[in-house]
Amino acid sequence: MNETLDKLRRLQDDDSLIGSLKAEISTQPQKLAEISAKRDAAHAEVKAAEVHLEGIEHNRRDREGEAQTEGERLKKYKTQLSQVKTNKEYTTMLHEIETTEKKIGDLEEQILIGMEEADAGKTRLAGAKASAALTEQTCREEEEKVRARTADAEGELAAAEADRKGLAGEIDAETLGRYEKVRSARRGIAVARVRDSICQACGGELLRQIYNDLFKDDAIHTCPGCQRIIYVAPEAEEGKG
Ligand SMILES: [Zn+2]
Repeated sequence: MNETLDKLRRLQDDDSLIGSLKAEISTQPQKLAEISAKRDAAHAEVKAAEVHLEGIEHNRRDREGEAQTEGERLKKYKTQLSQVKTNKEYTTMLHEIETTEKKIGDLEEQILIGMEEADAGKTRLAGAKASAALTEQTCREEEEKVRARTADAEGELAAAEADRKGLAGEIDAETLGRYEKVRSARRGIAVARVRDSICQACGGELLRQIYNDLFKDDAIHTCPGCQRIIYVAPEAEEGKG
């Protein structure tokens, strides 16, 4: 194969690799943000479970306070009951006592329900904490993997860029300029392979004369359809492709 054409092919390989590596590296912040969101969601569930349990316990303490107040009131009423003078006062007092006892009974029931709710709330909180710990571990592993892969990709990128620089220095300015122009006009692909007269980049069919010329090693040819620099792979590569 024409030596310049071979360099252009390798330049294209480097450029394609550089493009995909840069694209891959640029996804790192998004990947880390997604991991971070999983961690935040797990912590938010712990926080929600804590707030829920606090609410239950706060409510229960309130009911306990009310029950105590009602208990004292009941004691006072019972003392007063022995001191009433009239039947009417006695009846009123008895009624007060009944009402207060009923209130205390209701409060005690609510306190019991609150205790059951607190148990369920504690179970939820423990589950959320365990799940968050697991998520934290997974997130750290995932972050490590993302960072390691990015570091590898950066290394590969540096190598590809160095290789590209070397190749570009070996290609004459005019040919390189042509390559760059087509590459920027044709979505990053300036060099295309031709198989059985068909340009593999644009699908256009080459005239027999141009196709035959590709087998001679003396010139750089372009596809009439897409203007890309074209080549035919040697027999050995044809078999692989
Ligand atoms: Zn073409």
